[in-house]
Amino acid sequence: MDHKPMRNTYLPYGRQWIDNDDIEAVVNVLKSDYLTTGPAVSKFEQEIANYVGAKYAVSFSNGTAALHGACFAAGISIGDEVITTPITFAASANCVLYLGGKPIFVDIDPKTYNINPKEIEKQITNKTKAIIPVDFTGQPVDLEEIYAIAKKYGLVVIEDAAHALGAKYKGKKVGSISDMTMFSFHPVKHITSGEGGMITTNNKEYYEKMLQFRSHGITRDPNKMIENHGPWYYEMQFLGFNYRLTDIQAALGTSQLKKIDQFIELRKKYAEMYNAAFATIPQITIPYQHAEAESSWHLYIIRLNQDLLKAKRKEIVEHLLSMNIGVNVHYIPVYLLPYYQQLGFQKGLCPQAEALYEEIITLPLFPKMSELDVSDVIQAVKKIVSYYSI
Ligand SMILES: *Cc1c(COP(=O)(O)O)cnc(C)c1O
Repeated sequence: MDHKPMRNTYLPYGRQWIDNDDIEAVVNVLKSDYLTTGPAVSKFEQEIANYVGAKYAVSFSNGTAALHGACFAAGISIGDEVITTPITFAASANCVLYLGGKPIFVDIDPKTYNINPKEIEKQITNKTKAIIPVDFTGQPVDLEEIYAIAKKYGLVVIEDAAHALGAKYKGKKVGSISDMTMFSFHPVKHITSGEGGMITTNNKEYYEKMLQFRSHGITRDPNKMIENHGPWYYEMQFLGFNYRLTDIQAALGTSQLKKIDQFIELRKKYAEMYNAAFATIPQITIPYQHAEAESSWHLYIIRLNQDLLKAKRKEIVEHLLSMNIGVNVHYIPVYLLPYYQQLGFQKGLCPQAEALYEEIITLPLFPKMSELDVSDVIQAVKKIVSYYSI
């Protein structure tokens, strides 16, 4: 088969959608009194809290900082163990390391690709403090099963919903259920603020801890201070960070949030086009859909299920890239990354995750793509699957 690009332009796997109203929102902030954390930040937090149906939301400079803040609020410290999945971005586990804790990787369910709740309990020790489940690709984890375990052992659940803004679990929006839920506003995610992150929670104590954590551990609230020297006085009460979002970013985020339903509708429509096209191809496994959950479709991942194709995954990816189809692979199991290997994590730890990693391909999926783009991807994948199957 020739390696001619089937498109003149490269189709990425994901990208933002910025309109003039988004640009205007940012320009308005640039003309205002506040550039750093001001009224636009509070507004963005309120809008996200309203959208997901949570009492509180705290913004951070990015999703990783938000996870760091949530782990701090949960009281994770040196020697504590926190359970998470290997099929995620490194940040879901790094946030535990930042506080001197130890990430414990629990294997995935080969059907859902999310952490396997049945495997979690086996890994719980007297050092376990929290679970960080990840709604991989936008498909919510089974929160009911995870909460049954968390309640039994007194664990905090910090849901990594970087992929799942707008997703629903049993009729409730993701972000309204867990002790704390993290969203990211990196440009490939559902909405963007450039860089940005948010934790939603219904817990006032966590909320106040995170507000202080993202600003050096400093408080100016007279009710919380030990001393008070006068109107200039503030207290740094623990070691925090400068993890604040700017008003410039927040205004972009608020403007983008107005379009979230439309963005998700388009993602869903394209995912359904992929599903319909690939469901009849026996060499491809299409994504699982939980009967009582609604994915917000951050990623569309196909899994090769034929030995011949699995062995050629790298060539297939390279071939699709040469055709200008911007495929990708999500994710390298976190503990296989060199830094985690240095920490002593061994290959073979989570066999289902390692098998998945060898067999998956992420296809382009973002609201700004067109139905024609989707057709190009379908055509390219079909061609390649039949070519490499022989
Ligand atoms: C994007 C992402 C993060 C981190 O978010 P940033 O805003 O890029 O720091 C964490 N976890 C997952 C699963 C992500 O996809």
